[in-house]
Amino acid sequence: MCAHAGEHAPGIPAGIKPHAPPIYQSSGFEYPSHVEAEAAGRGEVYIYSRDANPTEDRLAHAVAELEMTEDACIFSSGMGAISAALLSYVGVGGHVVAIEGLYGVSHAFITDHLPRFGASFTLASAATPEAIDAAIKPETRVVMLESITNPLLRVADVEGIASVCRARGVPLVVDATFATPLLQRPIERGAILSVHSGTKYLSGHGDVLLGVVSGPKSEIQKVRKLRKLTGGNADPFAAWLAIRGLRTLALRVERQVATALTVAKALEHVDAVERVHYPSLPSHPDHEVAARVLDGGGAMVSFEVAGGLAGARRCYDRLRLVARAASLGDVTSLMTHPATFSHNKLSDIERRRFGITDGLLRLSVGIEDAGDIVDDLRQALG
Ligand SMILES: *Cc1c(COP(=O)(O)O)cnc(C)c1O
Repeated sequence: MCAHAGEHAPGIPAGIKPHAPPIYQSSGFEYPSHVEAEAAGRGEVYIYSRDANPTEDRLAHAVAELEMTEDACIFSSGMGAISAALLSYVGVGGHVVAIEGLYGVSHAFITDHLPRFGASFTLASAATPEAIDAAIKPETRVVMLESITNPLLRVADVEGIASVCRARGVPLVVDATFATPLLQRPIERGAILSVHSGTKYLSGHGDVLLGVVSGPKSEIQKVRKLRKLTGGNADPFAAWLAIRGLRTLALRVERQVATALTVAKALEHVDAVERVHYPSLPSHPDHEVAARVLDGGGAMVSFEVAGGLAGARRCYDRLRLVARAASLGDVTSLMTHPATFSHNKLSDIERRRFGITDGLLRLSVGIEDAGDIVDDLRQALG
């Protein structure tokens, strides 16, 4: 009895549907007869959620639409998406070109993990067409970069790099997590795949881990095949949370970007702040590139406080509104201290080379009132 209880509940009449997207929290799908089962066997309808799940597919469609491309594939985390995107191009003897200062775990995947499978890599010193061109070899299978890097918010010349990649016949994969599809759609600018940690802005509420790879059908087919083999699917409930988050993406990002600019400008006038890193400020080294390839400066602001480590720790500990927490792209503002947190495994020399000073703080701007965020920073720095 228990196992079949409730199976004959009336359900919803044909043509009526729930207004909110349903969560298909099911590992598999049931068929009325052999006709549908055989169609499923041919891959025409849903079989098993590791192959495909309607909630995940709905999210994939939504992201593909926002990225203005054909298809997308959903993963259980950003790293699931990034590793699958890279592995669908790189095998034994293959070579990867990536930029220096890539998200730490992506960097570790390329430099520590891929070599175990006989792949090699070159880290380009800058996200410029010249540096990428110089790093590409005959055996290069993929180039990977980030639209906006962490934590100094350097902006890649995606268009220039995409033309180099096209000329050299190498696919370009762009991690557009920091930019969101609202500020940059890398495929429109010549990349083959766009990847996102959906954990960040796409879902936006700090309550789910998720990843997405978007691109043309032919490429996503390869990525999806790899996902089936390695099982990196997202749980349907996680996908559903991201579908809900995505509905307010434009509202959130518009507000967050406007606030980030206000905060960046305000910080420039705070005595205890020595330097502000924000792509829309004229003082930013990639200001011109940013104006060309991004529709806004993003919602991350980094700044260097006087007094080095002690100054940074003081500001960090005095925050009242901004949360002392990892991650980014949340509705609430979040602060990290890269030197002792995300980048603490680097040597002092490497940190200096990357420009990560002891006084550097990274702020992910939330949707709070701009004045409240500025007030909190001012009092913390006062
Ligand atoms: C967070 C992040 C990732 C990794 O995503 P997860 O969802 O944590 O696996 C990759 N790239 C960037 C730029 C990120 O910020």
